[in-house]
Amino acid sequence: MALFRKILVANRGEIACRVMRTARRLGIATVAVYSDADAGAPHVRMADAAHRIGPPAPSESYLQAARVIEAARSSGAEAVHPGYGFLSENAAFAEACAEAGLVFIGPPPAAIRAMGLKGAAKALMEKAGVPVVPGYHGDDQSPELLAAEAARIGYPVLIKAVAGGGGKGMRRVDRPAEFAAALDGARREARGAFGDDKVLIEKYLVKPRHIEIQVFADMQGNAVHLFERDCSLQRRHQKVIEEAPAPGMPPAMREAMGRAAVAAARAIGYVGAGTVEFIADVAEGLRPDAFYFMEMNTRLQVEHPVTEMITGQDLVEWQIRVAAGQRLPLDQEALAIDGHAFEARVYAEDPARGFLPSIGRLLRLRPPAEGPHVRVDSGVVEGDSVTPHYDPMIAKLIVWDRDRASALRHLASALERFEVAGLTSNVDFLGAVARHPAFAAGDVDTGFIERHRGELLPEAAAPGQRALAVAAAGVLLERAQQARAQAARSGDPHSPWSEADGWRLNDLGRADLRFLSAEGEHGVSVHYLTRGWRFEIGGARLEVQAEMDGDGRLAVEIDGVRLSATLVRHGGELTLLMPGETARLSLFDPLAVTDDDEGAGDLVAAPMPGRIIQVLAAPGLDVAKGQPLLILEAMKMEHTIAAPRAGTIEKIAYAAGDQVAEGATLLTFRREE
Ligand code: ADP
Ligand code: ADP
Ligand code: MG
Repeated sequence: MALFRKILVANRGEIACRVMRTARRLGIATVAVYSDADAGAPHVRMADAAHRIGPPAPSESYLQAARVIEAARSSGAEAVHPGYGFLSENAAFAEACAEAGLVFIGPPPAAIRAMGLKGAAKALMEKAGVPVVPGYHGDDQSPELLAAEAARIGYPVLIKAVAGGGGKGMRRVDRPAEFAAALDGARREARGAFGDDKVLIEKYLVKPRHIEIQVFADMQGNAVHLFERDCSLQRRHQKVIEEAPAPGMPPAMREAMGRAAVAAARAIGYVGAGTVEFIADVAEGLRPDAFYFMEMNTRLQVEHPVTEMITGQDLVEWQIRVAAGQRLPLDQEALAIDGHAFEARVYAEDPARGFLPSIGRLLRLRPPAEGPHVRVDSGVVEGDSVTPHYDPMIAKLIVWDRDRASALRHLASALERFEVAGLTSNVDFLGAVARHPAFAAGDVDTGFIERHRGELLPEAAAPGQRALAVAAAGVLLERAQQARAQAARSGDPHSPWSEADGWRLNDLGRADLRFLSAEGEHGVSVHYLTRGWRFEIGGARLEVQAEMDGDGRLAVEIDGVRLSATLVRHGGELTLLMPGETARLSLFDPLAVTDDDEGAGDLVAAPMPGRIIQVLAAPGLDVAKGQPLLILEAMKMEHTIAAPRAGTIEKIAYAAGDQVAEGATLLTFRREE
């Protein structure tokens, strides 16, 4: 069977670019679709043709099946690749493609439907003899019955939206008294994200590992698995770092899981790429009889690259070949695991603030260079913005080597070289995980991040001497560069300003710099030396020399110790990227200060734009530090806004249903004497 001549990619970001890369290699022309927010996005530039399909909101663009299909028809595409998310698991869309004479590069609609709702999928798998997590997945959704089922299953339990995905609509409940409120929250989130508030209830496994199997099937009835991925490293039930193979996987268990996954695929007449997600109870280690079916994702998975790295296969190529009617490229016996791979999801989010998404412009985005050990899948470039409209993933960093320890070294060092500035990213956090001894030992389960929180998320601390010295050196070098440029413009080559030596730039031979961080003000007094400076920082004296290239990269020597760093400057805001550490400072400008900061702590501001969905406090109420005050829905997730301190609420500025801007004052505390 011949492959397609042209395909449309019904997605955006890294996955759209990823699919187009393979299409191009196979000589297939590509068509992109884009929303107004993505008119200049990399996936649009990469495609041979691109069609606008609507405004930024996904519901008005990437989820508009009819517009996507119209774009495919008018561009002459023969097939549609849906990527992940958006329309990828939408059976009606797969059907509409077929009706329009387009090949949907994915499973048959019936297979998508069979796995679309978690409850029905579990019932089906039980029938097919695949072990499932004990729980309730019936049609009766009355709160009383659900509470009774939870009691029968035994606490802790997990409430899951049957239509859920991406960790949304999920609540762990530890005590019967908390059940009703958790059910409300899960239902509300599910209704908002999936338009369906049905839930199921499961036994919550307290020490679980998430291990999933990549499966593939063709139209000729062949089905294989491409081994497992371990995705246990999660926050808020969402994957952070994935790896293949799973550390410590006994061959008998791999065998049993692979068999169960292929049975699951066969039970629903599967075709194409799919992932069967299992949860393994590791209270007694990995055992071939202690894993349970959780759900099947009937699409390409975000973390598919780790499987590609250990099998040497291109899964998008497999998808395209199978969709064109070809046989699976390889049989089970021809597939083998070679080496070890990790994937780290680099997100625009703030791990120190509950992994809250962060939006803004990527003033700097320099992933490490790609090579035999390092792959970077990204859908944004420096200068692009991360907006609240879409998933805040910046890139996926994938590494490979012969064994786990070596691959992990590549992961840690590649993360140290990964430069992101302009918004808060999780790069330092990922680096801390990659360097953690328990992670190196393969001691992973879904509680890893919570358990090691203290070491992975250090308390916010004032910038250290090293950071301040590097920042000061960068600022001084920038000033010298500006002075030189000014001298060149003034046309007097003999002006003392055209000399780069610092001491000539300042009559007194000294100067003071003041920086602000979230933790306060930090002074650096500067004494110019013939070469470099002597800095006084909080009583300590440091001799510093530095050079900076035109790209913000600094080579700094502090008391004879060299280090490299990058300084990104945006007005008075500085971001300092050092290996494993990012510092954000502002250069203190006395004229810019208008507000007194006595009011700090008296108000609570919106951490991101969103919609207030519930107000849990009222004027006059005495609250404790950490007490939930408001629930904000942003980026399809619910965020609880808690009291920054104990006190009495004075005023609440918004009501449920109100839209709020980032930084808007949500409520104020009564001032204490
Ligand atoms: P994976 O297991 O591949 O990581 P996720 O469940 O995390 O899959 O989802 C992958 C992507 O698809 C994420 O960007 C997520 O936000 C999005 N996504 C998942 N399920 C849905 C859904 N039902 N509707 C819209 N987007 C979804
Ligand atoms: P989603 O569709 O959002 O991906 P899943 O059912 O795949 O939902 O579950 C997501 C994650 O939640 C799992 O990877 C796991 O960490 C956790 N989880 C799911 N079910 C259980 C359970 N029964 N006990 C403990 N943790 C669970
Ligand atoms: Mg899942």
